[in-house]
Amino acid sequence: MSFLELEDVTASYGHVPVLHGMSLSLPENGAIGILGANGAGKTTTLRAISGMVKTTGRIMFDGKNIAGLGPYRTAKLGIAHIPEGRGTLPQLSVRENLLVGAYQRRDRKAVATDIDYCLDLFPNLEARIKASAAALSGGEQQMLAVARAFMAKPRLMLLDETSLGLAPTTGRLVYDAIIRLRRESRLSMIVVEQNAVLAFSVVDEAIVLETGRAVLTGSKAELMGMDAVRRAYLGG
Ligand code: ATP
Repeated sequence: MSFLELEDVTASYGHVPVLHGMSLSLPENGAIGILGANGAGKTTTLRAISGMVKTTGRIMFDGKNIAGLGPYRTAKLGIAHIPEGRGTLPQLSVRENLLVGAYQRRDRKAVATDIDYCLDLFPNLEARIKASAAALSGGEQQMLAVARAFMAKPRLMLLDETSLGLAPTTGRLVYDAIIRLRRESRLSMIVVEQNAVLAFSVVDEAIVLETGRAVLTGSKAELMGMDAVRRAYLGG
């Protein structure tokens, strides 16, 4: 049994079905990318896993069926969802946002160490530690969103379009930190990205979604070797 396994998952908004039998398998410490056109259901797949949308089918996480648990309980089990559009608390400072990320934890010393680690990972945040999240640049807000999610000590991170709206060099900077985070903290990750070059820099495997179904699944090398994938997602 994989660390995370989706079996024949459907999801709908009201009566409108969006995922039509989605399957996915992720080993512990693995990272998988989800590629697909706008509206294919990438965000909805992440919402299905974190319990933010109504689903049918099985979603097994670390041996438990988590389908229907809802976002609060999936977060408690160690799933950190970093939604598109950042999700930081704008009125609070960078430090306060990081502390909010750790609010379920009682290991105060380790929390302090992890804040230092986040600031080492994202030196831009160290310089802005007292600034309110609202005053940060788009790139810094995205760094804070990732760092805040890390502060909860998750076992699985769901990253949704983390590079969206960022300048290419900033997107690269954020992804270099995500690669380091993956290497140093033994997190599992699902990476949804329009920018497939960035996604492929982190993941081992990827799936291509089309209208709510996985139409291709393979290792990074397999998918990068396919003409259709290169043309659609890698610019030739
Ligand atoms: P994008 O890159 O545009 O975010 P996506 O692959 O992440 O695309 P989803 O956001 O999962 O796609 O959306 C899949 C479908 O579900 C789309 O047709 C979208 O319009 C619809 N949808 C998404 N969110 C909602 C919602 N809250 N209520 C109703 N329909 C929604």
